[in-house]
Amino acid sequence: MTDPYTLQDPTTQYPKAGPEFEQQQKAPGLQKEMTPVPDCGEESYRGTGRLAGRKAIVTGADSGIGRAVAIAFAREGADVLLSYLPEEEADAKQVVALIEEAGRKTVALPGDLKDKTYCEKLVSTAVQEFGGLDILANVAGKQQFVKDIADLTDEQFDETFKTNVYSLFWICKAALKQMKPGSSIINTTSIQAYKPSPILLDYATTKAAINTFTKSLAQQVASKGIRVNAVAPGPVWTPLQITGGQPQEVLKEFGSQTPLGRPGQPAEMAPAYVFLASPESSYVSGETLNANGGTPTP
Ligand code: NAD
Ligand code: MG
Repeated sequence: MTDPYTLQDPTTQYPKAGPEFEQQQKAPGLQKEMTPVPDCGEESYRGTGRLAGRKAIVTGADSGIGRAVAIAFAREGADVLLSYLPEEEADAKQVVALIEEAGRKTVALPGDLKDKTYCEKLVSTAVQEFGGLDILANVAGKQQFVKDIADLTDEQFDETFKTNVYSLFWICKAALKQMKPGSSIINTTSIQAYKPSPILLDYATTKAAINTFTKSLAQQVASKGIRVNAVAPGPVWTPLQITGGQPQEVLKEFGSQTPLGRPGQPAEMAPAYVFLASPESSYVSGETLNANGGTPTP
């Protein structure tokens, strides 16, 4: 655990990758079985009431960045509905316990975001259980590397787009019917939107789409007093990367190409989502906040 509130050198705040980072699990994977276990702020995130009384949905909330966001939102005072896949129950249970420890309400609603009915149910359940919806953090995503377009199947191409783009459309559409002025939507794009890897053809394309979707929707709903922004992480140590997101052999150097020279941890992403969810960012909409270890972006 690193105390993020003390002055320190960001190049050494978290470890560089090494041989111990080389590991594989079947997607979607369990974070509790990773070495090292990603830091999602479980021991460190300190809330200051910035989201007091808010009602939030977080997708991909069992592990990685979504888990860090769910913990941070709850410690800032929000009730949080958690979306994740049924296979991830063991990770999700830990998040439920952490949110309850923070004294907030939580609803765990596993399901498949490729299913429109499930996406709509996330919104109706949040409204029913919490009495409304003010914050939607779309964090879930699918990333499977394929080296040659000849081997990229229609099935994978379709699943990556359904998970990363269609689900966003379905959840945002349902959420906007419920959201009042002051509400905030935060999507999750990637450095891959600007610097696509050749082996992430389908994934990188969805992340560019998410950036554009965010900027278009932000303008559409601005007059309703609703803000829409995105966070663009760089290489972050999460289950996504060890479940087919990257070839196993590159994991020992994961994040080394960034100016800060190391992978990010989910705990370092959460404050960006909190900022965009809270009225502190009241004049920010249609923006992409890059948290990528210092790589220049357009
Ligand atoms: P993660 O594996 O911890 O989270 C991804 C989550 O997506 C899973 O936990 C799962 O709950 C959810 N998910 C995937 N398919 C789903 C489906 N069909 N239905 C329901 N849920 C589904 O990994 P992460 O890295 O924290 O990923 C979170 C987001 O961050 C993703 O959108 C990813 O593209 C983005 N991102 C990650 C990195 C990185 O380096 N880790 C970099 C840039 C962007
Ligand atoms: Mg997971």
